[in-house]
Amino acid sequence: MIRVSKECSENRVRLVRRLVELRFKLVMTTEKKAIENQDLLCETKVVLGHHLSFIWKPSWLENTFCDVCTKTIWIYVHQFYECTDCGYYCHVFCVDKIKRVCSAVVASENSMIINVCPYKGLLFQDYKCAECQTYIRIRNIKVSPEDRVSLEARLCDYDGKYYCPLHHWNNTALIPARVICNWQFEQQRVSQASFQLLKYRYEARIYDLELQNPKLFMYLESLTQVKNIKENLVKMKKYLVSCKYWNACLKSLPSRCRELLYKCKLYSMKDMIEINSGIFLEDLSELKAKCEKHIRSDCEICKNQGYICELCNSDNILFPFDEEAQNCNKCQNIYHNHCWCKRDFCPKCKRIEERLKTQDIHTEIS
Ligand SMILES: [Zn+2]
Ligand SMILES: [Zn+2]
Ligand SMILES: [Zn+2]
Ligand SMILES: [Zn+2]
Ligand SMILES: [Zn+2]
Ligand SMILES: [Zn+2]
Repeated sequence: MIRVSKECSENRVRLVRRLVELRFKLVMTTEKKAIENQDLLCETKVVLGHHLSFIWKPSWLENTFCDVCTKTIWIYVHQFYECTDCGYYCHVFCVDKIKRVCSAVVASENSMIINVCPYKGLLFQDYKCAECQTYIRIRNIKVSPEDRVSLEARLCDYDGKYYCPLHHWNNTALIPARVICNWQFEQQRVSQASFQLLKYRYEARIYDLELQNPKLFMYLESLTQVKNIKENLVKMKKYLVSCKYWNACLKSLPSRCRELLYKCKLYSMKDMIEINSGIFLEDLSELKAKCEKHIRSDCEICKNQGYICELCNSDNILFPFDEEAQNCNKCQNIYHNHCWCKRDFCPKCKRIEERLKTQDIHTEIS
């Protein structure tokens, strides 16, 4: 009736309004049926590892899309579920059709892919979507215009597999492998499953850059600086963790700084972006300056745990994190670097040796 009505006529306006009303009613009835079928009294539901919490008209959210049927979730009309772990959304009436395992579960069972787009080709997948197994085609193969969209094979840059448009929405994400191997920060198109997984792991410190691509440290000045400061922080941490005054200082530091003190060798995607932009180095330098000030000047306990170089006996106090400090690999005592290079022996090691000798003599006599 709308189609045959006159354009811009009052009649058409009335009909369109009526259609909207009817569609709304239809949504409400389908939903009502689904709700009757399910026990919604239970507020969270566990499906394939998702912890789905029931949401009804959250006014702070924008409309979003259902991960099952890909249609819009109209937040003022629909009731829906959200996974509290991975941010998976679905309509109440789609919950029985969930096929994708929760990203939190995938993340706990698999390590992240760090090969750049491990591509095997569509033949390897039997020309089927990697998630739902429906047949898909590369775009240039002739199909009818309606089928072109639904059959289009879309490549996910993270896992190198092809997906159907239902499971690959052309969302883009930063790919860990591209950053680690190429220090490349352009976003690439990924499947929804990969998108959720990458989002879920974005802040997780799980990448050992030195192990996965040691050459990065040769080419990137900023990364080498980060590494050096981190190593110095580890040396400082030995003082700080045993100092009773440091705990109070620690509380006054922003939580981000506190995080930086731990998991020294590992980086997250967020860290790598911030290393690239320079923020990371700034924050890290600030933290280092704070820790150093505590140990070297503010705290009497830490200050008294410095070393005097026994090779030159000069007055200035040495700390393991000083640039000119050098430790003996055997006894860990600290000396000046230039003194250590000219040494005949390590005074502390020698003392220990002599003590052991006299002990031996004593036991022999007794
Ligand atoms: Zn989930
Ligand atoms: Zn849906
Ligand atoms: Zn699919
Ligand atoms: Zn202290
Ligand atoms: Zn010295
Ligand atoms: Zn020694």
